[in-house]
Amino acid sequence: MEKYDYLVVGSGLFGAVFAHLATKAGKKCLVIDKRPQLGGNIYCEKQHDICVHKYGAHIFHTSNKEVWDFVNALVPFNRYTNAPVAVYEGKMYNLPFNMNTFYQMWGCKTPAEAEAKIAEQKQQVVEEMRAQGVDAPRNLEEQALCLVGRDIYEKLIKGYTEKQWGRPCTELPAFIIKRLPVRMIFDNNYFNDSYQGIPIGGYNKLTEALLAGIECKVNEDFFAQREYWESLAEKVVFTGQIDEYYNFCYGKLQYRTVRFEEEVHETPNLQGCAVINYTERSVPYTRVIEHKHFESFGADVYANPRTVISKEFSTEWTEGSEPFYPVNDATNTELADRYRALAAKESKVIFGGRLAEYKYYDMAPVIEQVFNHPEVKSWQ
Ligand code: UDP
Repeated sequence: MEKYDYLVVGSGLFGAVFAHLATKAGKKCLVIDKRPQLGGNIYCEKQHDICVHKYGAHIFHTSNKEVWDFVNALVPFNRYTNAPVAVYEGKMYNLPFNMNTFYQMWGCKTPAEAEAKIAEQKQQVVEEMRAQGVDAPRNLEEQALCLVGRDIYEKLIKGYTEKQWGRPCTELPAFIIKRLPVRMIFDNNYFNDSYQGIPIGGYNKLTEALLAGIECKVNEDFFAQREYWESLAEKVVFTGQIDEYYNFCYGKLQYRTVRFEEEVHETPNLQGCAVINYTERSVPYTRVIEHKHFESFGADVYANPRTVISKEFSTEWTEGSEPFYPVNDATNTELADRYRALAAKESKVIFGGRLAEYKYYDMAPVIEQVFNHPEVKSWQ
């Protein structure tokens, strides 16, 4: 006899939100996670009284009021606004690409000057594309050149992107760079969304609130006893790697992973902001996160005499490490489509989240995905 309506494999945002809504709808869930803790990649660890984002910086942002109200009803969010800075050969530039960046890069003081500069810089690539009969950028390099011109592409995009993805910009899809706003105003807010912030007290509070009252087991690997776990529930909600679910029958998908080097410094304020991107190739890490800036502002920063930073090293995923980002090149996309076609035929398995959908999701769209899932809709 099945004991549960749903076995949820993986306690990251998709799994936790699904289990939360299912439980509210009167369904019985069991959540299992192979890690020793819950929360997937939003998990934080307190170090020196600072919430350290153990699996990389997570900044919640959305324009969906329903999603924003949903998370804030579980835990209040603070007013953190992401405004990262890029360092290239010792010089600092504001991100995302906005009037501050254009002033720092070219001395442009007005939007008209910046627009003229970008137009001049993108002329060559536009002509090349036109000569080839192409009207839309075919890859990340063409897209970046069209958006911000050659100087910004070469100094702030090329090195960073090739470090992050381990592939040339000409082999990466245009949409990755379209995540970043380009603005003709002096505004360093990294996101265009109406709402952003970090849960007060850290993301673990969100995970705890989502999973309150739900049976959860950590240190449990679904694949170690697959038949046993499957026998426990009517349906499975799978949030792990889709290729592993199908025993790699078509071959292995590639992922990028991040290795973190954490350091504790005996100073209250090391870099003056949460995120600094190192955009040149020769610096081996992509960015340095100073975690306290996610939760302390103004004079509060100095209340703690210490600070914790993480350097992020982006590498190709190998067995045994944590898969972080799906690789969005043509080969992987085709392979993922074949797996997705298998998944679409399942009636008793629900696939969701970055790994099971093989999709570069932010947090809020994952929650939206749960809200809009036909299974969830069927309870309403
Ligand atoms: N990017 C870049 N330079 C930067 C920051 C980002 O070229 O200083 C590019 C890079 O290709 C990256 C993409 O923009 O993969 C998206 O960046 P985002 O900060 O959204 O990445 P995430 O936070 O998801 O790692």
